[in-house]
Amino acid sequence: MADEKSVVQEFKLDPDCELRFEVESKNEKVTLELKNGLAEVFGTELVKGKKYEFTAGAKVAVFTWQGCTIELVGKTDVSYVAKETPMGLYLNCHAAMERMREMAEKDDTRGPITMIVGPCDVGKSTLCRILLNYAVRMGRRPIFVDLDVGQGHIAIPGTVGALLVERPSNIVEGFSQQAPLVFHFGHKTPQTNVTLYNLLVTRLAEVCSDRLQANKKAKASGIVINTCGWVKGDGYKLLTHAAQAFEVDAILVLDQERLYNELVRDMPDFVKVVFLPKSGGVVERSQAQRSEARDQGVREYFYGSRTPLYPHSFEVKWNEARLYKIGAPVLPASCMPLGMKAEDNLTKLVAVTPGPSLLHHLLSVSFADSPEDDVVQTNVAGFVCVTNVDVERQTFTVLSPQPRPLPNTVLLLSDIQFMDSH
Ligand code: ATP
Repeated sequence: MADEKSVVQEFKLDPDCELRFEVESKNEKVTLELKNGLAEVFGTELVKGKKYEFTAGAKVAVFTWQGCTIELVGKTDVSYVAKETPMGLYLNCHAAMERMREMAEKDDTRGPITMIVGPCDVGKSTLCRILLNYAVRMGRRPIFVDLDVGQGHIAIPGTVGALLVERPSNIVEGFSQQAPLVFHFGHKTPQTNVTLYNLLVTRLAEVCSDRLQANKKAKASGIVINTCGWVKGDGYKLLTHAAQAFEVDAILVLDQERLYNELVRDMPDFVKVVFLPKSGGVVERSQAQRSEARDQGVREYFYGSRTPLYPHSFEVKWNEARLYKIGAPVLPASCMPLGMKAEDNLTKLVAVTPGPSLLHHLLSVSFADSPEDDVVQTNVAGFVCVTNVDVERQTFTVLSPQPRPLPNTVLLLSDIQFMDSH
């Protein structure tokens, strides 16, 4: 019997079909090659004859509008060709957005601001990627905003951010993460601090709006916004708040008719609410897989994915660390100083005394020069991770993509932890 690793599978795809495959087992690699015809992965065209390598955790769809032949080398856990896909509907959305961009370009107005919503595991991130890729392939420069603090695709978990998309996403690694605009939230679900979340969304919307005004090409191209899968109760309120903050023109609702109907009811008439089916290929993820995806995101931040990165490690003295977290416990209104509301505590900068509890936590490195600045609403330059705490010597060690930062850097403590196993 042939060595499992050398298994070669060839697939001939008819037009409008999709090859789906997953790589599950650790240390397994699967190479994808387009032999003939034209095909794309989530909106990025494959180059004929080029080998793309996928590792454990990859869940991929290779779609073809024209028909093609694909070769997979290596052990896949699932691989099949699907004839039914919603790609035609997704392309229609792109076409409608493109018409709005043409109009925006002509009149020097703002292009479409589109928000994608839906419960967990319906392909929201994937639809964002497809729409952004199609836009950039037409020569557009859209902004990608990710409001999903748990499973986002900009920076690391526990943040919200925006990225100017200037080229199609890499088939294996996704969008280039050069110079994203990132704000520290510090938790893996908005539920933990809804007030702070809304504040950051409002701030991000303001900054994005300024950036559109400053860049003519981006202005006509508009924004594509990814959101969290928390769509009930307070989660729904976050979505309507984000829609308002970004002044969205369209909301694409994946999979859930109830959410679609609620938004049709609650959104003003000028917001188009569109229902779209989810793709049968979207894979549901367990809590463990979600947690692993978060870890993977952090690991890639420090160590890179295909191109390895070599992070630095250094000690910080407790008494030199300017460490803060955002949000103090909410006190009863009667205990608050005059003129302050109880919710104000949730967005307050609170000094943190270093100690053993810092171990494994991620810290955001703020662009703010001093704690007197508006640190909460200032974006962050990057992240470090606490890998050791030495109580005796009153120091902690951090893993950092940059060499030792300036001693007066303001650091923001995140709830999210990362165990560095390198
Ligand atoms: P979340 O609930 O985390 O926000 P989501 O709704 O954004 O999830 P995605 O991340 O887009 O969902 O998709 C979930 C997984 O399914 C991803 O790993 C993605 O690569 C995979 N996937 C999406 N579409 C397809 C498809 N057509 N065929 C195979 N896999 C797919």
